[in-house]
Amino acid sequence: MKTAFFNTKAYDRQSFTATNEAYGHDLTFFESRLTLKTAALAAGFPAICVFINDELEEDTLRAVHSNGTRLIALRCAGFNNVNLNVAKELGLSIVRVPAYSPYAVAEHAVGLILTLNRKLYRAYNRVRDDNFALDGLLGFDLHGKTVGVVGTGKIGQCFTQIMRGFGCHVLAYDVQENPDCLALGVRYVPLPELLAQSDIVSLHCPLLPATHHLINATTLAQMKSGSMLINTSRGGLVDTGAVITALKSGQLGYLGIDVYENEGGLFFEDLSDAVIQDDTFQLLQSFSNVVITAHQAFFTKEALNNIAATTLANIRDVETGQYCVNVVKQ
Ligand code: NAD
Repeated sequence: MKTAFFNTKAYDRQSFTATNEAYGHDLTFFESRLTLKTAALAAGFPAICVFINDELEEDTLRAVHSNGTRLIALRCAGFNNVNLNVAKELGLSIVRVPAYSPYAVAEHAVGLILTLNRKLYRAYNRVRDDNFALDGLLGFDLHGKTVGVVGTGKIGQCFTQIMRGFGCHVLAYDVQENPDCLALGVRYVPLPELLAQSDIVSLHCPLLPATHHLINATTLAQMKSGSMLINTSRGGLVDTGAVITALKSGQLGYLGIDVYENEGGLFFEDLSDAVIQDDTFQLLQSFSNVVITAHQAFFTKEALNNIAATTLANIRDVETGQYCVNVVKQ
């Protein structure tokens, strides 16, 4: 199928071009993010393929639809950036990649925990500077600590398994209990109890209206004083302003994030020569107990290959009228 890819980097073009040898779609790659301004690039393409920070709000959906697009293939799991009501009204099919490597994201979350706890970012720079002093690098044993997992789906389950391997107690909160997590010895509790008892809280639930700013001034106050918050899920789960207040007071002891609520236009770009205009992000960066990565948790070879294979199969299924298991229900 003739498909326009938005927001592509060299690694996307490489993995999709190689995988497409088995599918034979007609692929065109654009570097631009999909916005209302760039929607005209989709003219003549019955399918477009987009990523996390492309803008699929009402005006953009109407623009691509009027240009002939009928299928939107998300090469990611989350679809919080798509206005599903408008997509339904226009009869646009939306497909996604629900799972490509839960291990990649879970392992990155654990990486953030270890980096923050053992202050590896400081240690790395010190040793390069011939400073071999240990002051300021004191960490804590993970063994025996309590970890709270919010959302025990595919990624939450992998994360739980790893943390159980460290000898941690795991508490979980989810709207639905996962029997595999129960088998791992997880105890499901209400969110306030999880927050009050956990030394580390890691978010693995989707961004939905019900979970927007799940971590806010009220829930931060319920957390154990000095505890660690990890977010590799979606930036909108966390009220950044409230988190900054909690970091300043010491109520929050550590913050590790791979996602940020206003990451669009920042993450995935090289802005090293630019002046960052987002004061909140700059303030967040200034804390010594905050580690930020730029939405790279998914970024492993295995995940990229799985993303390409599933996306191209989704496009084939819709094109040939076969049942596509990865259609987003609208
Ligand atoms: P999943 O669908 O397998 O699991 C999500 C879990 O969240 C489910 O168990 C669901 O019941 C639970 N949930 C839903 N609503 C909830 C609520 N209100 N409160 C608590 N739990 C709730 O999804 P997954 O594959 O494990 O992915 C989880 C999230 O990780 C995705 O939604 C996505 O936002 C994020 N993600 C991030 C990256 C990255 O690179 N940083 C990559 C992939 C996915």
